[in-house]
Amino acid sequence: MADFTGLLTAFRNKAPFDSTADGLQSIAKKGRFTVYMSDHEGHIAIVRAADMLNLGRNSVRRVKSKSDFTMDTAELGKMIDKDIKNGDTPFCVVAQVGSINVGAVDPLEEIAVICSERNLWFHADGACGAFGAALPEKKELFKGLEKADSVTLDPHKWMYIPYECGCILIRDQEKLRRAFSISAPYLRGTIPTEYTGIDYLEYGPQMSRDFRALKVWMSLKHYGAEGYRKLWRQNICCAEYMDKLVRESPEFEALHKPVLFIYSFRYFPNKYRIENQFLNETNVTLDQYLDQLNQNIADEIQASGVAFIMTTRIHGKVVLRMSICSHRTTPSDIKIVFDKLKQLGEEIDQRYINNQKPA
Ligand SMILES: *Cc1c(COP(=O)(O)O)cnc(C)c1O
Repeated sequence: MADFTGLLTAFRNKAPFDSTADGLQSIAKKGRFTVYMSDHEGHIAIVRAADMLNLGRNSVRRVKSKSDFTMDTAELGKMIDKDIKNGDTPFCVVAQVGSINVGAVDPLEEIAVICSERNLWFHADGACGAFGAALPEKKELFKGLEKADSVTLDPHKWMYIPYECGCILIRDQEKLRRAFSISAPYLRGTIPTEYTGIDYLEYGPQMSRDFRALKVWMSLKHYGAEGYRKLWRQNICCAEYMDKLVRESPEFEALHKPVLFIYSFRYFPNKYRIENQFLNETNVTLDQYLDQLNQNIADEIQASGVAFIMTTRIHGKVVLRMSICSHRTTPSDIKIVFDKLKQLGEEIDQRYINNQKPA
């Protein structure tokens, strides 16, 4: 809903006609309205938001990314200019700020420049990672975030708040109001009240709304900014430790450097890399086998109760994805999880080998 709010606000403020009155049905509408995000790491929540706005899922254009999974902004500029030439109306660029698979942060400063040159809305999807901007040692990584028109962040992720609590920050309050303001006789009384603060009815999709802010406020009061910084550093330290264990072990393959608290990697027995030791009675390729092996490891570690680890795909390959996003996780937990993953990998691989042997 935070991303949806961001995209709707972007659209209301950038469409070249009164989209509040006419929606997408204005006769002034020309071409397609288009949104941009990185191809590999762009989050599906943006596609869903475009869908809910009836822009069509295809309105989200995928921009090529670099080997570090961040958006290639030269490509972004070219793509936008080409679309404009073809009669489309680009209105928003979405930067990933802590991406879902690898925690990548797009080049925010460069995206800000492209948006300001072309009068586009700069939305930062920081659902996972935007809180990292509060760490002085990560200052360089988040440079340019302060230029975003809107930033989403999920307190139910990196603030450890119970489900659910999404959040959006909008630079210009009036632009947000313009997107949602609505009135009806039954919403307004004439008796004066003492309340002069903002009426959230005018600033979001909901009329009746839950008091989600309470749990955020109480957690902030409890931990304080310094308390949170300590926990965020602990999570990052755990991701870095996992990366170290993975790189030191010949049975695992590192796929990226951890930036924040998300770390993806692959179980890849060394023997299958050194020589073509992969036993193959059926027509299974090594890549297909490794996909299945990593999926089985994730399923079995979940069933074991030791850790909840899921898989994702990176460049088409099934990999293990660790989201170290609990305030209680420490490096000793990471070691336990690593050892368990290794043990499961060996067991599952051995089971496969035994099944391949002729009876
Ligand atoms: C989690 C996430 C979202 C939104 O998903 P919710 O589960 O609804 O909070 C959007 N973008 C990114 C990058 C995310 O990680």
